[in-house]
Amino acid sequence: MAVPITVVGSIAFDAVKTPFGERERMLGGAAVHFALAASFFEEVLVVGPVGEDFGEAELDVLRHRGVDVSDVERIVGGRTFFWRGEYGWDLNSRETLDTQLGVFEGFQPKLSERSRASDVLFLANIQPGLQQQVRRQVPDARFVALDSMNLWIDIAREELVGAIEGVDCLILNDAELRQLTGRPNLVSAAREILSWRGSPAVEDDGSSGGSANGNAALRGGPRVIVAKQGEYGAALVTAESFFALPAYPMEDVIDPTGAGDTFAGGFVGYIAAHPHDELSDDLLRRAMAHGTALASFNVEEFGTERVERLTGDEIAARVQALEEITRFSGASVVQLRR
Ligand code: AMP
Repeated sequence: MAVPITVVGSIAFDAVKTPFGERERMLGGAAVHFALAASFFEEVLVVGPVGEDFGEAELDVLRHRGVDVSDVERIVGGRTFFWRGEYGWDLNSRETLDTQLGVFEGFQPKLSERSRASDVLFLANIQPGLQQQVRRQVPDARFVALDSMNLWIDIAREELVGAIEGVDCLILNDAELRQLTGRPNLVSAAREILSWRGSPAVEDDGSSGGSANGNAALRGGPRVIVAKQGEYGAALVTAESFFALPAYPMEDVIDPTGAGDTFAGGFVGYIAAHPHDELSDDLLRRAMAHGTALASFNVEEFGTERVERLTGDEIAARVQALEEITRFSGASVVQLRR
């Protein structure tokens, strides 16, 4: 049977230092953070390679949340993707000190039948060429979202634009949206990307199995743009609407690594859990709230530590708290002066 959500992206070991502590080698990677968060909504299958240094203990973290790891390929003699980053007092900006692609170099994804038939596909942060290869293998997905980062805008922009043209939803940091489009502000950057819709997109290399329906699905471009704004929250832009939510106010943020992917897991997971609903503004706003709630837990501890022991009840309570703090009445209580 098809799995509802498939994700491809980095599966990693991270070395992270923040003003509140450090970890020299912890489980990380965009696909891992995404999968743990999305697993609260639907079953998730992770596609990607790991090296011989990746143990059963790391896979068990995913298995414990019911994540299907059968498309995780262990490469003999290979080394798992490694990332080292450091945060200063401003946890919104971080410095990448080292990125080692390891087994992702030269990786050729071959998706199982189960993942090819997924309803929802998330192309988490990794080389855009790989994102495109996976996209072509899931041609009939109802909803496809993509995340990326400044590195790929710097070194593989053309491939990244091609990948973005094959998805329904782009989830990117606001600074990266500006970098990608050369537009000075978030709304105009999002509008620019929305205007790509309808332009010729990803060429089909035949690996999708040649389904005419599938080829059509690969043409177009995003109709939903989500701008991640770190501790300030996230904004959503479509052709018809704009919506924004602050991050849930936290007194103690310990490590923001993976917050973006955890947000994406909540956002995309919520959409996956509503397969018969159209992609209405209302649905997208509720998805934003769930992404925001999930991300707020992620930053409470290092890496995946907090989300590993999170419960559905805790998420529901935080969504409700978020609704409380963002609600206000539009009725003016005073007569405004002209
Ligand atoms: P986030 O904090 O949500 O932006 O994502 C952090 C995760 O992204 C870490 O767990 C890293 O392993 C992963 N990561 C960092 N750099 C890259 C990269 N160039 N490609 C893919 N994943 C990366």
